[in-house]
Amino acid sequence: MEKCFSDFIYGEYDQKKVISAINQLITGNKKTFKYDCSIYSLKGSVLYISWFLSPLKRDDNAIRNDSEILVVGLDLTERRNYENQLTWLAEHDPLTSLYNRRKFEKELDQAIILADRYHHRSALIFFDIDQFKYVNDSSGHQLGDELLVKVAEKLKAETRQSDVIARFGGDEFIILAPNISQDHAQELVQKICDDMSTVVVSDGKERHRVTISAGLLLFPEPNCSAQDLLAIADVAMYRAKAGGRGGWCLANQYDINRIDIKNRVNWKTKIERALEENRFQLYFQPIMHIRDKSISHYECLLRMIDDSGELVPPGLFVEVAEHTGLILQIDQHVIELAFKQQVEMLEKQWTIKLSINLSGEMLSNPDAFKIISNQLKAFNLEAHHFIFEVTETQAVTNLQAAHDFITQINAIGGCFALDDFGVGFSSMNYLKQLPVSYLKIDGAFVKNIVESYEDRLFVEAINSVGQGMKIKTIAEFVENEAILEVLAELGVDYAQGYGIGKPVLHPEFQHPLS
Ligand code: GH3
Ligand code: MG
Repeated sequence: MEKCFSDFIYGEYDQKKVISAINQLITGNKKTFKYDCSIYSLKGSVLYISWFLSPLKRDDNAIRNDSEILVVGLDLTERRNYENQLTWLAEHDPLTSLYNRRKFEKELDQAIILADRYHHRSALIFFDIDQFKYVNDSSGHQLGDELLVKVAEKLKAETRQSDVIARFGGDEFIILAPNISQDHAQELVQKICDDMSTVVVSDGKERHRVTISAGLLLFPEPNCSAQDLLAIADVAMYRAKAGGRGGWCLANQYDINRIDIKNRVNWKTKIERALEENRFQLYFQPIMHIRDKSISHYECLLRMIDDSGELVPPGLFVEVAEHTGLILQIDQHVIELAFKQQVEMLEKQWTIKLSINLSGEMLSNPDAFKIISNQLKAFNLEAHHFIFEVTETQAVTNLQAAHDFITQINAIGGCFALDDFGVGFSSMNYLKQLPVSYLKIDGAFVKNIVESYEDRLFVEAINSVGQGMKIKTIAEFVENEAILEVLAELGVDYAQGYGIGKPVLHPEFQHPLS
């Protein structure tokens, strides 16, 4: 049975346009014509073809009505598939097939415009899997991947067709629910939290059940871009993490006003880049034993080097790091840098302790002890080479976790210092519950101790509490000899400050100061 060419065409085909072009070729009004369309192959698959048409000229150079037209088809199927694949990859996460961050941000931009125009509320739900690293660490990356896929499947099943869902990277997911009331949005986020806890993966030995922490934000919010909204939802999510994980927080005005959001987003990127490019550095400040004037240990102080090579003090980035969850990575990085330094010192036979600051997030992290003990093993180091510092406020906020963590570290020979002591003076009672070895008297009470009778009384009181509990005391901000003399009189054990030694990049450990 004879078949017409058009019988093979698949999909759209503009017959009128093709016939008109052929007529023009015949009459000589057109020299060539190119047309792309898909056809069925003999095997029934679809081929994407680019057709080139040109009239065959006769010897006498005349073009007649019975002219023949040469048609050449170029099979571009493979190239087209490849292009499609690239387009797909540009917008999707290959592991879960959900949208990726880039595509999601585009969709969010559109949703903001629509929400503004039609005055309807829409919701953003941003969530991060709790303790996901544990799944990777204990059962391997493959099972971690399986869990991410299952979470994505669950999410697809939970959401409406009109919702936009994406994997944002790592174990972070996001949902955009357009045109939804606050009540419904709250129901949705609760349902997602509940249903995620039915996701389970197992490696045969251990079963891992999912919990997530989520931030919910309703928008439009005045003057907020897609980036701003994402940053606010992120802050709310971290509040849910800080609140004990396994739940969600509604972004409140405080989250929205908290910070100059743009600035924060910039800082987040700066910190992430500095971590990737190894642009964090430790400086070492000596701590002197006041009675025998020997250097007892060094405190490790973190600095970030920005893009232009400038040193950035922690005051500028720690708060952002805390609110974006990057602080844990920074903690781990600091531990690694300090351990490396200790290895170098031990190789030179310097036996001097290093004091490492830990964040409140680390203190309350159930894996904190495991992280430190694993690193000790990896570097072949003993815990007694280190002192870990946490602030009084952080320890009191996470009292039980702090107590447990400090006890575990003490048991392997390490010890703790309570930093900035005195700022929350009312919490003196808590001291009994924190088995620390050192109290660091906040510098604010030390620097004016020569002139201020009250400050002197205060330092004396803290010192005697410490001595009474067999906890060594360290005074910060010791800027000159006069301050040092008063501290010696009061019986404070150690001194730290510019008067003793500034933070340096390469400490000369072999020369105790006099
Ligand atoms: P938290 O409760 O604070 O969220 O702790 P967490 O252990 O979940 O830590 P976090 O969210 O900071 O880290 C997510 C981890 O996800 C970091 C990385 O090792 C892991 N990860 C990132 N991408 C992938 C991936 O594609 N597959 C797997 N298996 N793991 C990934
Ligand atoms: Mg996580």
